[in-house]
Amino acid sequence: RMIDPKDIVDITPSAGISTAIHGWRAKCLQRLIRMDLPVPRSHAISAAAVRSMAQGAMLPQGTLDALFSNGNGLVSIRPSAVMPEWGGPGTVLNVGINDERHRQLAKTRGQDAADAIYLGFVQSYAVNVARLDPDMFADGSEGTLARALETYRNEMDEDFPQDPVRQLTEVLRSMARSWDAPTARLLRQAKGAPEDAPLGLVVQQMALAIGPGITGSGTVQMIDSVTGAPILMGRFKGQMQGRSRGQGAETLYLTRDERGPSLEDLAPDAFADLVRFCEAARVRLRDEMQIEFVMSDGELSILDAVRTQRSSRAAVNIAVSLARDGIIPPEDAVMRVEPRALSELMHYQIDPRAPRDIIARGIDASPGAATGKIVFTATAAQASAARGEPCILVRRETVPEDIRGMHAAVGVLTERGGMTSHAAVIARGLGLPCIVGAHGISIDPRARELRSGGRSFREGEEITIDGTSGEVLAGSAQLLEPALDDSFNQLLDWADESRDMGVRANADTPEDARTARMFKAQGIGLCRTEHMFFDEMRLPIMREMIFANSPEDRRVALERLLPIQRQDFTELFDIMAGMPVTIRLFDPPLHEFLPQDREGMRELAESLDLPLSDVTRRIEALSEFNPMLGMRGVRLGITVPEIYDMQARAIFEAAIATANAGEGVVPEIMIPLVSARREVEIVKTRVDAVAAALRNETGRDFTYRLGVMVETPRAALRAGDIARHSAFLSFGTNDLTQMTYGLSRDDAGRFMNSYVQQGVYAEDPFHILDEDGVGELLLIGTQRAREAQPEITIAVCGEHGGNPQSIAFCQRAGLDYISCSPFRVPVARLAAAQESI
Ligand code: PEP
Ligand code: MG
Repeated sequence: RMIDPKDIVDITPSAGISTAIHGWRAKCLQRLIRMDLPVPRSHAISAAAVRSMAQGAMLPQGTLDALFSNGNGLVSIRPSAVMPEWGGPGTVLNVGINDERHRQLAKTRGQDAADAIYLGFVQSYAVNVARLDPDMFADGSEGTLARALETYRNEMDEDFPQDPVRQLTEVLRSMARSWDAPTARLLRQAKGAPEDAPLGLVVQQMALAIGPGITGSGTVQMIDSVTGAPILMGRFKGQMQGRSRGQGAETLYLTRDERGPSLEDLAPDAFADLVRFCEAARVRLRDEMQIEFVMSDGELSILDAVRTQRSSRAAVNIAVSLARDGIIPPEDAVMRVEPRALSELMHYQIDPRAPRDIIARGIDASPGAATGKIVFTATAAQASAARGEPCILVRRETVPEDIRGMHAAVGVLTERGGMTSHAAVIARGLGLPCIVGAHGISIDPRARELRSGGRSFREGEEITIDGTSGEVLAGSAQLLEPALDDSFNQLLDWADESRDMGVRANADTPEDARTARMFKAQGIGLCRTEHMFFDEMRLPIMREMIFANSPEDRRVALERLLPIQRQDFTELFDIMAGMPVTIRLFDPPLHEFLPQDREGMRELAESLDLPLSDVTRRIEALSEFNPMLGMRGVRLGITVPEIYDMQARAIFEAAIATANAGEGVVPEIMIPLVSARREVEIVKTRVDAVAAALRNETGRDFTYRLGVMVETPRAALRAGDIARHSAFLSFGTNDLTQMTYGLSRDDAGRFMNSYVQQGVYAEDPFHILDEDGVGELLLIGTQRAREAQPEITIAVCGEHGGNPQSIAFCQRAGLDYISCSPFRVPVARLAAAQESI
């Protein structure tokens, strides 16, 4: 079969070249040609023709001849897929060289250059087309060319093909076929290419980078790919082209450098042109480009341009500066940065250029990198921090008592747990790098040793954790500073202009609230109050309250907690003045506040002045088989109503105090773990009563909103009913996921990897919202609630609120806002904006 000559297009400014038919490279070359850059004559072969060639079709002889005309008789062939990231077969240079042209080249460019060019092609033809062993054609010194030709003859039983048209045909066909190889398919499909992704090819006349005068090949770009700083960078290799090296081959500096000769010094005019071309390409192609060029005896050719490689921070800098220069509109800049890339910028990161000695992997629970000495207990972490030594807290899993240790550490590593385990949630809240569920490791607390894959690390030895990738590294690592710079803020301000869903923060402490404000959260969507009771001063009072024998005794203990709680809320409201603050009433089972071991029970008995047996009996009585499905949340609120009464009073008193000081807040009180309408009615009656009593006492009026957390499937299904008594609903997707799957959020880490690997779950549903199941409950709940009460506010406050994919879902579901860890607020602002653009 013959291919239609129309399938081969001379790339001229007016030629009909399209990315879908000829690929991105052909299109990009046409743009460079339209800019009048010195691009060697290039032809695009359509994807349809390439596909036919893979099946044996031929290009007409006349067309092939034409590809070699008007030049030095040599061409290169480059892949041109629809998207650059889909890859393609490697470029083949110097197609068309044979004994005759080799002789001519020796006259014009010198024997040595001619040899190097011929050898380079023989090597690549032998390996890529004839599929001979690369080792047989390894580089050598003198006489290598003759040996390579000889080896080819011996292996193939024929002379090296001398007909340029045959060479070209064979190279094109082998490139077309390699596109269909299974590994190439897998690689590009992983980058989002469709199964039948087309490949175009570009045939370009060679600009020779080996020969007399200032001759060589190089690349140039105008920004630093790692930092994003505007700086002219690149390399220039004298007498080198691809794998071919001429005599005197050397890498020179591109720009002026004290250490040695540079292209800028050797060929200042051509260098100035190069810089000008780079600047023009940025404007015309609307992106930072890396330009590939050849200097041939002082004459510059532009061979190609590709998007400059970029780290996350470089991506932000590039997008913002393109928009500031008016090259792209701000909305484009917003669309060009991956939301998850922002979280890298907000934390220390391991320098991507640095070596990594990986000792274990786990779940990337909280981004950022940190180096510190290993400690195995919260106490050791605090001691280490007191000595000024950064430490990594390494635990099987963390418990509420470890919070102080986590505060003292620069990073946290746990053997167990998943995305919503205690360590993960707290670490994200603190902005602390954290890896959980690192199965490969084992911790020997007695020997104070961390073991992993045959290696062991003692307490005090240094490790580095990369919470962005989930990798644990031995020793220290070169870190890049966070980059909360002007570009970062500008990009997010532009994002806010396009965004319609609100973004609030989950904040429990004044520090969290300040972080939330710094990242421009629009209020607090979840303040988990239980964390307020774990500190040294409050825990004993809490325990007294739990051990109270009568409602009266309980009230006495709660009265001591009241001013402390009021103070908590006043601080929070002061920081968040003018914004909504949602406070969730007490949620966990009470036994979490009680000691677990005998020693702790003994101490408790002593402080409460009770016999030890009383204490142990009481703790036993409080213990439950399934505490997460037991007496917690609103169930506790209804059974021991004095706790919620105290909290409601503290909230209202704080609201009054804040209003006195200036701009107040309208507190939003949220009831956790609801599954029935009546629960809401009962709590609402009591909260309203507390408010009425306080209005009476103080003569002051204040407003508040009462809402419900939708965390059980039943609450989602009965959302219509529940909405009638609620000013807002907030989906607690952590518990909702746990209860929808019947899957413990604290234990799922153990088998999550194997479940995801075997495709049972597409993703960890505690990490990315399960749109099919949990998402459907969310849609049903939202619809029913809005039908019953159109004015109702609907939100998500589980950990999914910080995941870009889940945020996009929430936006599509028409939610009013999402609430996430303060350090995820920027990611959420960007992700929500992208979904609205
Ligand atoms: C939830 O369940 O989604 C939630 C936000 O509450 P918590 O994580 O505190 O259970
Ligand atoms: Mg919950």
